[in-house]
Amino acid sequence: MVKERENQVLKQVTRQIYQDRDFFPPELLANYRIERVNNGNFGDVWFMTRGCSHDIGGGCTMCNYGKGNRVPEEKILENLKKILSEMPEDYEEFVISPVGNILDSNEVSEHMMAELGKLWKHIRCKTLITESRADLITAEGLARLKQTFNAELQCVELGIESGDDWVLRNCVNKGMVTEDYRHAIRMIKDAGMYAVANIGIGIPFMSERMAIEHAIKSIHKSLTWGADSIVLFPYHVKPGTLASWLYGHKEYAPVSLWSLVEILVRLEPEVQDITRISWYKNYYEEPWRIIASPSTCDACYADVLVLLEEYKNSMRKETLDILQEYSCDCKSDWKEKLLDQPEEIDMPEIERQYRMMAEAFKIAPELLEDELEYMKHTRGW
Ligand SMILES: [Zn+2]
Repeated sequence: MVKERENQVLKQVTRQIYQDRDFFPPELLANYRIERVNNGNFGDVWFMTRGCSHDIGGGCTMCNYGKGNRVPEEKILENLKKILSEMPEDYEEFVISPVGNILDSNEVSEHMMAELGKLWKHIRCKTLITESRADLITAEGLARLKQTFNAELQCVELGIESGDDWVLRNCVNKGMVTEDYRHAIRMIKDAGMYAVANIGIGIPFMSERMAIEHAIKSIHKSLTWGADSIVLFPYHVKPGTLASWLYGHKEYAPVSLWSLVEILVRLEPEVQDITRISWYKNYYEEPWRIIASPSTCDACYADVLVLLEEYKNSMRKETLDILQEYSCDCKSDWKEKLLDQPEEIDMPEIERQYRMMAEAFKIAPELLEDELEYMKHTRGW
């Protein structure tokens, strides 16, 4: 019986997928975006690193935080210096992100952090948002973040994705268990910071109906662990991921944006108030970044996007009511299809998909049988 924390079939498949994935284009060093929120500036700066360490060994099934192109730090810093000196000095909110995890010293070295701190000195910011894997959170790391970046409030976003150990292991390949999440959230709170739980919608190997039910459960679990707020992420299909391979074989598709609306309207008012939405649309201009995105239909997509945008900025209940009452053929089709779908993992279905993957990626038969046995054995949650 296989007992590793990680599913060895998924691990081997995602490792092969990572190896075949293209590196980021070499000219990509850093980029930024400025928007207006709450009558203030929202800034977002992204910079090149070697990428997420978990990803390198065979990472999450939907994630392509990129295969960093290993540009020397000094070149990245030069670019960041130019960007930060040209950007405004005052922010309501600012997101700073490397390719993967800011608290991974293999990715963002101590030297890099110290230099980033120098570049940040002149910036006034109310809320600074960074993101990290929960298993990279340490008290020292959090202290270093506070010391490096001056902000009134610091939020650390954790890619929780799912609040269920079985799903994390066998559908996401997250390489973590929920206890890691609980522990990380506790440390963030102890550091006087704010813990944000990023919840995924459209995890591979589950039906859309389950994706809705599962996201709602994961939101509630994250809150019981002490998360201060939630961000919902409907997944896009990104190249060089297992999700894109499944998509190419018609075994995966992004959820409908109606599922995002459904999740929001089903939350209790007090949970709704602390749940934000993100990445419901593709922000990238480069066509190689995203293969498929959560959507509705051509007839209503533009309307739905405007309403979601409005909701993101205002969090007004009225906007959600309009979305809930909005009528379109694609919405009735979506609703009808859901009724035929299972609310839980469909074991025969996931077994069929695993067998298909194992054949395509040449996984040893004994390993596959061991994992399937273990998956069945540990199911019932
Ligand atoms: Zn429609």
